[in-house]
Amino acid sequence: MSPEMHKTWEAACLSRQRSYSPYSHFAVGAALKIRNSDLSIGGCNVENASYGGTVCAERSAVFSAVSQGYQDFEFLIVVTDAEPPAVPCAFCLGVLAEFCPPDFPVHLANLAGVERSYRLDELLPHPFKLL
Ligand SMILES: [Zn+2]
Repeated sequence: MSPEMHKTWEAACLSRQRSYSPYSHFAVGAALKIRNSDLSIGGCNVENASYGGTVCAERSAVFSAVSQGYQDFEFLIVVTDAEPPAVPCAFCLGVLAEFCPPDFPVHLANLAGVERSYRLDELLPHPFKLL
């Protein structure tokens, strides 16, 4: 794992520790490496008693980054304590497709490190586009 990937993986692990997941007990962390920056911006899953109000870690990371003024991402790392590591849901893939090109790297990791890597268009080959 490259030093910048390791740093982003650590950010995703830290975000995972902040997961609010009292219902599923499935803690997820995600972190986006910001292009041309040392920054990695993380997010965690935030569940809600009304399940539909739940937001995944990947979307939390995207919304946090966009809220802080960043929309140009180099790659995403998603961390779970699962084997094989969890793949982002279709909602999150659609949100990623809003900001990221088809060849955007999505790295799936667990607490030992990155296990699998995909391009965004491998996980979501036909994203919804309004225009
Ligand atoms: Zn999701």
